[in-house]
Amino acid sequence: MTAAEDKRCTPVKLVSSLLRVLSQSGLASVGCEPGSEIEMSSSRNNSDRASQQDARAWKALTGTKYTASLRQVESPLAQGFLGDRFSARTLVAVLDDHPVVGSRGGAPVLGDNGMHDTDPWRFGTKTDLVDLALVIEALRLFTPTTEAEAGVNSYRFKHTVEKLLAPHCSYVTNGRLIWAAAALGLPLVETESGGPNLLIGISQVEHDYVRQLVDGGTPPTAHHHRPGGLDHLQDSLARCLAGTPVGPRWVPPAPVVVATPFHDWLTTQTDRNDLVGDIARDYVGGIEHNIKSISVSAGDFLKGLVAVWPAPEVYDAAVSAIAEWFVASPHAEPVRTKALSRTSEEVPGWGAGAGDMERIVFACPCGEGEVVEEHDNIPGFREHSVNLWCGRCRGEWDFAPGRSVRDWGLVPV
Ligand SMILES: [Zn+2]
Repeated sequence: MTAAEDKRCTPVKLVSSLLRVLSQSGLASVGCEPGSEIEMSSSRNNSDRASQQDARAWKALTGTKYTASLRQVESPLAQGFLGDRFSARTLVAVLDDHPVVGSRGGAPVLGDNGMHDTDPWRFGTKTDLVDLALVIEALRLFTPTTEAEAGVNSYRFKHTVEKLLAPHCSYVTNGRLIWAAAALGLPLVETESGGPNLLIGISQVEHDYVRQLVDGGTPPTAHHHRPGGLDHLQDSLARCLAGTPVGPRWVPPAPVVVATPFHDWLTTQTDRNDLVGDIARDYVGGIEHNIKSISVSAGDFLKGLVAVWPAPEVYDAAVSAIAEWFVASPHAEPVRTKALSRTSEEVPGWGAGAGDMERIVFACPCGEGEVVEEHDNIPGFREHSVNLWCGRCRGEWDFAPGRSVRDWGLVPV
C-alpha cells in the first residue's frame, strides 16, 4: 500500500474498529450513541461485511492471502469512479455462470489469452483485483450497444484500455478484458473464426475517439464522440496517483437531443456521383475520424470549411451543396459568418445631441472579403445598413429577405 492509500484508508479503519468496540460493549445498544451514529455504524458494518465477503471470494478463486485480497477490495482505485464499487463476488461468479464465458460446471472456457484458453489464470500480483476494477471503470465509459451491433474486437479494445489506464494498469490480458465486460453485462459475440477474441458491444465511435486520444498520434480535434465520463475518470485516476481525495461520483447528465438539420441532410448525400457527393463523403469521413465537428446549420458547415482554406473547387462544391440545401429547406436559418471586429465611435451630433456610430465587421462567406454592418445612432440621424464587400461572393450570395439589419443572413443566389 502506498503512503497515499494509507492516508485514505487508515482513519476509516480506526473509526470502524472503535464503533465495533462500542457495539460489543453494549454501549451503542443502550443509547449512549446518537441514532445517526448507530446507523452509520450499521451501514459501515454492512460495507465491511461486503468487503470481507469479496476478499474471501477473491482468496478462494486466486489463492491470494485474505489480507492481501482485502487490501485490494479496499483500495481507493477499486471504489468505483463511474459507478458503484464493483463486487469481486460478481466477478468470480461470472466465470461460472455467464452464458458465453462461464464454465457452467464444466471446464473453464476463458483464460488470460481469451476464449478457449485451457491454461489456468495467471494470478499472483498484488493488484490483480484492483486492475480488474480499473478495467471495469474503463469499460463503464462507453455506451453499450445491442448484441447485433457488437463490433469492437476485444484484442484491440484491451490495448485501448491499457493506454487509457497507464500508468495505473499498463498491461491487461485479452481474457481479463473479456471477463470485465462479461461482469458488466456487455454484449459478447464470438468472431466468425471462433478464435480467442470476442466482439464487445460498446459504441465503436466512442471507442475510436478514445483510441485516437490515447494512441499518441494526432489527437481528435472534434469531440462529438467523447464519452461523457472521460474527464471524471482521468481526473479520479490522477487524484489517486497524487494521493488526493477523489471527487464525488460522476452522475451522467440527462441526454439532450439537439436537432442537426443540415448534418442530417448532408449525410444522406454520400451516394451521389458528383461534387456534392464528394463534399458529403469528406464530411462524413471527418466526423468519423473526429477531425470535423457536426454542422448543425449550413453556416456551421461553411465556417468549418473556410477555416481550413479549401481549394477553390472544394469551396464551389460546398456552396452548391448549401444552395441545394436551401432549396430543399426554404425555412432553414440563413448563413451567418464569423465576426471579426466591432468598433463604436462617439460623435457630437448635429444639434439634437450626441450619439455614436457602430461598425461590426464579419468575414464574407469565402473568407476573402467582409460583411459590414453599420449603425448611426445619432438623434435626428439614424441609419442602419449591411453590405457584402467581396468581388467573389457578390455574384454567389444574397441577403435573405425580410430580416432586420442586425439579423442579416446570407443564402446562395
Ligand atoms: Zn467572399
